[in-house]
Amino acid sequence: MENLIIPCKSRLPVVPPPSPTPQPRRDTPLEFTTRPFISLSRKTHPRMADAHLNYLCNRGHLREAIAVLDYVGQNGLKVRPNTYANLVESCITENSLHLCRKVHAMVDLVESLPLFVETKLVGMYAKCGSLDDARKVFDGMRDRNLYTWSAMIGAYSREKRWTEVVDMFHLMVEEGVMPDGFLFPKILQACGNAGDIRTGMLIHTIVIKSGMCSCERVTNTVLAVYAKCGELNSARRLFDSMEQKDTVTWNSLISGYCQKGEMEEAYRLFDAMQKEGTKPSLLTWNVLIASYSQMGKYDVAMELMSKMESQGMVPDVFTWTSLISGFGQNNRWSQALDLFREMLMVGIKPNGVTITSAISACASLQALNRGKEVHSVAIKMGLMDNVLVGNSLIDMYSKCEELEAAQWVFDVIKDKDVYSWNSMIKGYFNAGYCGKAHELFLTMQESDVQPNVITWNVMISGFMQNGDDDQAINLFQRMEKDGKIKRNTASWNSLIAGFAQNGQKDRALGIFRQMQSLHVSLNSVTVLSVLPSCANLIAINKVKEIHSCVVRRDLESVLAVSNSLIDTYAKSGKIEYSRRLFDRITSKDIITWNSMIGGYIWHGCHRSALDLYDLMRQFGLKPNRGTFVGILNAYGLAGLVEEGKRVFSTITEEHLIVPALEHYVAMVELYGRAGRLGEAVEFIENMPLEPDFSIWLALLSACRIHKSITLAVLAAERLLEFEVGTYSIYQLLSQTFGLYGKPEHALKLSRLEKDTLARKSQGESWIIRENKVYRFITDRSTPYYEHLHSWLRETDEKLRAFESYDRLCIEEEEKEETGQIHSEKLAIAFALAGEYHTPQTIRIVKNSRMCADCHKTAKYVTLSCGCEIYLSDSKCLHHFKDGVCSCGDYW
Ligand SMILES: [Zn+2]
Ligand SMILES: [Zn+2]
Repeated sequence: MENLIIPCKSRLPVVPPPSPTPQPRRDTPLEFTTRPFISLSRKTHPRMADAHLNYLCNRGHLREAIAVLDYVGQNGLKVRPNTYANLVESCITENSLHLCRKVHAMVDLVESLPLFVETKLVGMYAKCGSLDDARKVFDGMRDRNLYTWSAMIGAYSREKRWTEVVDMFHLMVEEGVMPDGFLFPKILQACGNAGDIRTGMLIHTIVIKSGMCSCERVTNTVLAVYAKCGELNSARRLFDSMEQKDTVTWNSLISGYCQKGEMEEAYRLFDAMQKEGTKPSLLTWNVLIASYSQMGKYDVAMELMSKMESQGMVPDVFTWTSLISGFGQNNRWSQALDLFREMLMVGIKPNGVTITSAISACASLQALNRGKEVHSVAIKMGLMDNVLVGNSLIDMYSKCEELEAAQWVFDVIKDKDVYSWNSMIKGYFNAGYCGKAHELFLTMQESDVQPNVITWNVMISGFMQNGDDDQAINLFQRMEKDGKIKRNTASWNSLIAGFAQNGQKDRALGIFRQMQSLHVSLNSVTVLSVLPSCANLIAINKVKEIHSCVVRRDLESVLAVSNSLIDTYAKSGKIEYSRRLFDRITSKDIITWNSMIGGYIWHGCHRSALDLYDLMRQFGLKPNRGTFVGILNAYGLAGLVEEGKRVFSTITEEHLIVPALEHYVAMVELYGRAGRLGEAVEFIENMPLEPDFSIWLALLSACRIHKSITLAVLAAERLLEFEVGTYSIYQLLSQTFGLYGKPEHALKLSRLEKDTLARKSQGESWIIRENKVYRFITDRSTPYYEHLHSWLRETDEKLRAFESYDRLCIEEEEKEETGQIHSEKLAIAFALAGEYHTPQTIRIVKNSRMCADCHKTAKYVTLSCGCEIYLSDSKCLHHFKDGVCSCGDYW
């Protein structure tokens, strides 16, 4: 007789239990003996192994059961399907993938393997977290029934792998298996979440054909698919055809309308629901409140909340959270925080999202103390394990410049994700600690979390922001090679924006060029970063080039981009392009209007600016601060002092806007242009704000034009207190004195140091000719100096003959008599001397304020040569045409 010896660690009862019915598990541990054996004979005990295996499984001794199964196999025996299923069930309970695989490896020991056992294996792998293994078993099966498909689809559905669920549905129908009333809702849910409306519609047809439409559960899910995918007409038709409507039915349709932003219809349904006798559930209220608050309609949202309370429905954490985050998303941070406090007072426990929203509100307000309060609530609620909460705290503390606290939170987060690292690194950069940030970046690379493209971009823009462009470029170059991270558009944008902000316009443009030559796709941020670098008269071709990229990429529809283009074209001297673009924009915002009005002011076109303002009012748009600056400037240019004064008074009285310094500057210019200096001074004296540098500079400019020495001294003395642009002020003033005969020492120059005076600003001008930029300085070393000089001398003589000529020269530069020829004159000469064809338009950029002499020369040149000259200096744009300048000879 052949004996089978099965080793067993636990002591066995003499008689095995007769049936494999599950036994309650014993709490007392079994005693172990050294080596107990049981003897099995194939002939006499054919089911001994089954009984023993069931016994072990029911007591939770899975590992021993597996050992027994192994012996069974080694001795050529088989087990019953039910016994094996019991083992599989134990694997699920144990949740060990390793044991699952061991049991699976011995599947051949099952007598005539039935379908249900294989299906159970699919379920086992799915539940133990290996969908791949589950799918392998599934694919290897010769036959599959509804349960097999249900197991596999259920597994994908639990993992939220919606597209796979839908794919499986198509496969199963191909195999001729039809889902039942339980499986259909799961597939439909997947269709809704994957946005697969076509499959949803197909299922709807099947449901109708199979007569399953009487099943409320199925029909409700079909409705939910239509609503989720935004197919509201289909949803509505189905809804209207449904005889039985429960809360779920109503909720689906209401959510659908909310999702599409059709709040009126949603609200109408909400009313209808109640009229038809269905009580709104908490979900109904929450959906409506969340939608209204996200749209910024807080009044309605808050009203709904009090209504729900009056109907005996208690707002839950989701109700409160949707309101709080809604306020936050619409920049109403204080209200968000008030609501948060109220929520705590009524005893609702916040969740991670609530806390995150409240902390973000504190961060935006830089309200450190309130942030600390929310932090302590988070600790009390045990939410510090929530990585989102931790990340928002890091962000809040770094925005409030509390880096130690930020670092503390960072250290406490157990499962730091890449956002935690990125926020912390960014925090150090914002506070200027580049070294710390870099150190953290290195530590991160040693950690479980690897830097992603955002991390690299944070590093690049962090170094840029702190003026270390070498490091930024170095990282930019290294990220692909060393970091194995592919650069994205944002990486390039970081460099462009950085260079533009550091005033290195050419480098910003260079990076942009490189980006284009490598065919890196650009986005609206790229355009918004690079455009300010071309907002000057000599970069018009670049602006056009960028504009064509914008059109190619279909970015003109981004309003911020179009607004920026309007501004850039105006500054590049192409106001007509600005207007064309302006007229094309269908949904203009206040910035669109302000940019266009500002463009007209820059070009001295006060009439067009005022017309546009009227048009804007006709459209019912409310002017804002920026609009008023433009309008006051327009009245100044037009010389309409009384009109300007009237508008200024309406800013506060009608529009309830507190005027800012820029409005006061515009008013001083308004008086100044009209020569009403006494009123200007009176106006400054009555200002509720402390007059700043720009106010006194505006007055000094007015005094210079209108030859008022006493007031010029007053303005200059105040200006010198600011230690800004000291040299040019001194220059302006000394020349005023030189002209009008007041001794220079009348001014208390105590704050002026000699070396400050020695640092003269050098006049520089740039001109573009045949796509090449030429730079001129006020110096004899200029190429072709003699040639240009003789051309200028000739012009000068003609000019003298043309009109009486007083040598007024009270400007930021040295007089031409003492120095050399001013750079803008050399540029003009360069553009005109020796040209067979006089260019139609000359575009010059100058770094300091133009002098009256050059101004006069430019005016004369346009009259005598018939060309136009655009010249932007540090004060404004001069557009010379037919002997007249757009600045109205006031600059
Ligand atoms: Zn000059
Ligand atoms: Zn001018």
